[in-house]
Amino acid sequence: MVENCVFCDWGKDDKNNFWNNSLFISRLDNFPVSPGHALIIPRRHVVDIGSLNAEEWGLLRQSISDVTGVIETTDLKKYYQNLLENPLSDISAWFCRKAVEHPRINTKPDAYNHGINDGRSAGRTVDHLHWHIIPRFIGDMVDPRGGVRYVIPEMGNYKTQR
Ligand SMILES: [Zn+2]
Repeated sequence: MVENCVFCDWGKDDKNNFWNNSLFISRLDNFPVSPGHALIIPRRHVVDIGSLNAEEWGLLRQSISDVTGVIETTDLKKYYQNLLENPLSDISAWFCRKAVEHPRINTKPDAYNHGINDGRSAGRTVDHLHWHIIPRFIGDMVDPRGGVRYVIPEMGNYKTQR
């Protein structure tokens, strides 16, 4: 455990967690890319994916499956509406309103993006490993091909001539 680590704090008390097991917790992202955007976070202060131990790796697989099931069965509209009564910030409120207004909220996602920003240069802002699960819906982008390749936007599209 590390002092002043928000994700370590979340792991100490499951009261506000979306889901949990012995080694991991999950919360919905406060700035959701799409309704149900969840984080899976080890309780132990693990910075990067290479530092997960064998037991954590083993349970991560089941955790991803479990959290996906919870995303698909939670009343997300109600969740974000509750959050909007006392939002974390104006920016978080904007993201939560977008989720509430999403035409497919509370329907089963068509697909998921999974992602880890494994290092500061890869976009990590909290130095405690967190696995993103981002629900995707047919039509949420004009052309979703390339997916996580768009972490560098101009390198995402590999279908058109350069
Ligand atoms: Zn931590």
